[in-house]
Amino acid sequence: MSGRTRARVRPERTCVGCRERAAKTELLRIVAAGDACVPDPRGTLPGRGAYVHPALACLDQAVRRRAFPRALRVPGPLDVKALRHHVEQAQGC
Ligand SMILES: [Zn+2]
Repeated sequence: MSGRTRARVRPERTCVGCRERAAKTELLRIVAAGDACVPDPRGTLPGRGAYVHPALACLDQAVRRRAFPRALRVPGPLDVKALRHHVEQAQGC
């Protein structure tokens, strides 16, 4: 790998709502805290994270297909109230 400069690393993640890949910076990181999903906008919380567009459409899709418990490897349903609130705020509704 000598002399070969690595192109700008642009980490990508898949949105668990619409399943489209997007730059990590465009997605909202979600972690499980107890029996709830909480937003982790700074990406600092420990544990497994799931990524979703900060949009209600994607959030709703993720909830409908139970993507959060699957992505976060937790058995039960997760409360998304705090997460939904965060997304609503982020959208400026
Ligand atoms: Zn999405």
